[in-house]
Amino acid sequence: MDPALGPPDAMAEKRDELTPMMRQYHDLCARYDEAIVLFQVGDFYETFCGAAERSARLLEIALTSREDSTGEYPMAGIPIDNAESYIEELLEAGYRVAVADQVEEPGETSGVVERAVTRIVTPGTLTEDELLASDDNNFVAAIARGRGANTRPAADELALALLDVSTGDFLATSSASDEAIADEVSRFGPAEAVVGPDAPADVLPEECMVTPFDDRAFDRDRAGETVSSYFGDPDALLASDAEIRACGALLAYAEYARGGEHEGERGDGTERDEAADSPVAAGESQGDRLEYLTHLTRYDPREYLLLDAVALRSLELFEPRAVRGREDATLVGVLDETACALGGRKLRDWLRRPLLEPRRIEARHDAVEELTGSVQTREHCHELLRDVYDLERLIGRISRERANARDLRSLRDTLAVVPELRDQLADADCDRLTALRDELDPLADVRDLIDDAIVADPPIEITEGGIVAEDYDADLDDLRGTARDGKQWIDDLEARERERTGVDSLKVGYNSVHGYYIEVTNPNLDAVPENYQRRQTLKNSERFVTPELKEREDEIVGAEERADEREYELFCDVRRTVADEVERVQRLADALATLDALVSLATVAAQYDYCRPEILDREAADGGLEIDIEGGRHPVVERTQESFVPNGARLSPERRLAVITGPNMSGKSTYMRQVAQIVLLAQVGSFVPAESARLTPVDRIFTRVGASDDIAGGRSTFMVEMDELATILRDADERSLVLLDEVGRGTSTADGLAIAQAITEHLHDEVGATTLFATHHHPLTELADDLPAAFTLHFAVDQTDGEVVFHHEIEPGAATGSYGVEVATAAGVPEAVVDRSRELVEQATPAENDAPTADAAATQYADGGELPADVAAELRALDVGHLTPVDALTELDRLQRLLEE
Ligand code: ADP
Ligand code: MG
Repeated sequence: MDPALGPPDAMAEKRDELTPMMRQYHDLCARYDEAIVLFQVGDFYETFCGAAERSARLLEIALTSREDSTGEYPMAGIPIDNAESYIEELLEAGYRVAVADQVEEPGETSGVVERAVTRIVTPGTLTEDELLASDDNNFVAAIARGRGANTRPAADELALALLDVSTGDFLATSSASDEAIADEVSRFGPAEAVVGPDAPADVLPEECMVTPFDDRAFDRDRAGETVSSYFGDPDALLASDAEIRACGALLAYAEYARGGEHEGERGDGTERDEAADSPVAAGESQGDRLEYLTHLTRYDPREYLLLDAVALRSLELFEPRAVRGREDATLVGVLDETACALGGRKLRDWLRRPLLEPRRIEARHDAVEELTGSVQTREHCHELLRDVYDLERLIGRISRERANARDLRSLRDTLAVVPELRDQLADADCDRLTALRDELDPLADVRDLIDDAIVADPPIEITEGGIVAEDYDADLDDLRGTARDGKQWIDDLEARERERTGVDSLKVGYNSVHGYYIEVTNPNLDAVPENYQRRQTLKNSERFVTPELKEREDEIVGAEERADEREYELFCDVRRTVADEVERVQRLADALATLDALVSLATVAAQYDYCRPEILDREAADGGLEIDIEGGRHPVVERTQESFVPNGARLSPERRLAVITGPNMSGKSTYMRQVAQIVLLAQVGSFVPAESARLTPVDRIFTRVGASDDIAGGRSTFMVEMDELATILRDADERSLVLLDEVGRGTSTADGLAIAQAITEHLHDEVGATTLFATHHHPLTELADDLPAAFTLHFAVDQTDGEVVFHHEIEPGAATGSYGVEVATAAGVPEAVVDRSRELVEQATPAENDAPTADAAATQYADGGELPADVAAELRALDVGHLTPVDALTELDRLQRLLEE
């Protein structure tokens, strides 16, 4: 066990002799043994023993120690004022953090100050703005097994629940296939997951933190109660026991992480048993209910274009493929012109889950088209949306009572923008935009309330007054009036007393220790009246008070204190009233997010000359796919390249398997990805980088990039390659789009070719998937001629003066050569080496560079002599067309040496 977690051994041995404070620390560590406990001592959060040593090193803070009668314990503390940044570092190091605050004032108790864990910070349950990326969701997941609804008769299946605690987004799904759930997990990339007793953790990627949690939270009935306490009848809402168990457990976990003591959720055995008598988890934790969780959306993975982890990566949706690729060299990077965090998250959700249903896709296209048509509307909307705060997280904070007055003003400022946005959409035509206009509820009541109640520029502190506006509350105005009158009386006091005493230098002043005073310089002390009482003697003067002044002062202080209290009360009332409108605020947030995402798509479409794709009915292509793209471009590469050569694609059930050949660097991989990305963008609802596009929605995109090309993945084993191919061959169907890039390179040429050929035949004859297959195995082009629905494409290059010119233009038919050596020239390999290699290649490959035909020539050595057998064999095995320039160089160097010997 990590020595930073759990009760320190050194303390555990002598628990009963520890000072009460240290015992408290020990017990909290025992109770929250999965987290580092940050233990408030005054202005610091302290850690002790193993946790102190670890934190000191990780956070670069001083390691000190604390002594009591039982010994000396290492101690390291972080200042509370600056805690968030330290907590962030602990999270990054893979820890969970339990924050134990002093929950009573030190003065209030005779014994040790009571401390309690007020929140548990884990990667998946963050709500602190400072710790969250604004433009993406942060999900915590739960996985549970249970009786399912997807299979008849009902069999066990796996459910996944996903919750973003900061925004309230809550989703659930399930499937009879564990792999399908694994795919959904990669779509959403949860930061953390709780896993039910009989659910497999291996559907989670490595980077997802797995959190142990009370198994009983996954109990069907108990979970059902939890769900129902938030959303009503769980059976009406969710499809299966598995889903109910996952959702219920996730809610219980979110409440637990929210903090407070949850008897029975954790803790020791006796507490568990007691709690088991009352199965309603939520009932025990009233205080921690997450009121802003107002909707739970159940979805079926089959409603969306399915993208597994491999496809997500290879199509560069969110992560650049190249290891040191530019961060924005991704689909989301080229598409994201959103103005606010809400829109950024919406766009990412759309990208994660491209649609299948033509009507839904076209509704988005309609809106994008309309917004593309009007520069004015688009730009105005964008400008206005820039003033929109992150309403989802804002209302979450308001609802959790963590919002301050500035947050309320931010809400108000966002609401102020809404009527203007509605105006922008006044002439909207398409259904999506007119519906959006109606959904843009300005929440005038909420806005008026905040306007009336909260001053325009309030302080951050909510207990020290200065928040509530004049004329909002009569009591408050009275108290302020009293304080003001008192101060006025004091302001006038100086003039009155000067007149009364005749001392012109008499002054009224204030200091924080003695309060108000009247100061008389020494020469004038004779004039001091009867009722002055001496308070303080200075070098040149004396300070006095009068009973009346004291009385006024008390009145002022009292009124101010009560005013502050009253303000806090009123503020909390307003905050609660606003929190009651959580659902309306969330609906508004969703409308703003959608508008922002649509405007972003339209902006990109207009700026980069995208076209509206025509979406074909799913029945049109006779159960198969029709993909017809003219002048298509790679959305990411075209942004980084000075000039990009557009290429079309024409695929249909009759022409559904393309074998693509061409030299290295000619554009095969780019071409295949661009076809898939155009399809994907279309289904997201975006316009596409092409002159025109017509396509049937695709159910699923598979990609397999041969090991040698898979730079970012770094998983170059043949086994992985075959494993992923197996998935494709098993799961693909005629509605799938399959990209195979240089598959079959992880083994010998003969094996590789055999496998590639068998795969091609199977995909063609049995699977019927629309397939793009880039290959260096030229015999595959001959195979394509024999298969009725297969055809060949290639990238040609020109050679002038021994230099290769890439046109990046796709053409029908098979390529004739690979030009690997010329690529070496282009890459700057020294002339002499290139010449020599050209010589070697010419002998090795008379007409084509494919090994089988080169056999005879390879043994003829340039000097007229026989080529040594070992070198000949090496040469034959050399896959010239697909060596990288550097490999070619090394390889040539090696062969030359071999010959020399
Ligand atoms: P291959 O897979 O055939 O080896 P790639 O698709 O990786 O080739 O392309 C190599 C490089 O050529 C790309 O990085 C890109 O810079 C450029 N390229 C590819 N296609 C095009 C195109 N259509 N227009 C312009 N440049 C292109
Ligand atoms: Mg390639």
